[in-house]
Amino acid sequence: MEDCIFCKIVNKKINAGVVKETGNFIIIKDINPVSPVHLLLISKKHYDSLLNIDSRVDGNEIFGVIKDLANDYNVKDSGFRIVINTGEDGGQTVSHMHIHFMAGRGFGWPPG
Ligand code: 5GP
Ligand code: ZN
Repeated sequence: MEDCIFCKIVNKKINAGVVKETGNFIIIKDINPVSPVHLLLISKKHYDSLLNIDSRVDGNEIFGVIKDLANDYNVKDSGFRIVINTGEDGGQTVSHMHIHFMAGRGFGWPPG
């Protein structure tokens, strides 16, 4: 998608400091972090939201990538939070499927 900021990052048209790359995802640091560790797992393919992903392909990979990140960032014991904002009520601002990986502080519940 030409006008999609995350497609530009995936296609390396914008340098976003990729921290890791897996089969179907790239992982970057969020430009506006809300916690000491705030990563975005961005699908290499453009899907408008979680509702459009190929669950059998991408879905299979997601949990493994999350577990690897928990290992990489040494937060398996302290914990972390995964968020997939979806649609307007979900607070999604970038219409390209991505997963927030946040760690390094305690998070409250319920979210705002
Ligand atoms: P959403 O609100 O759609 O769940 O999350 C979008 C996230 O993408 C926000 O946390 C925002 O800070 C981040 N973001 C938006 N544009 C850019 C960018 O150009 N580079 C990076 N690294 N993060 C971005
Ligand atoms: Zn896109």
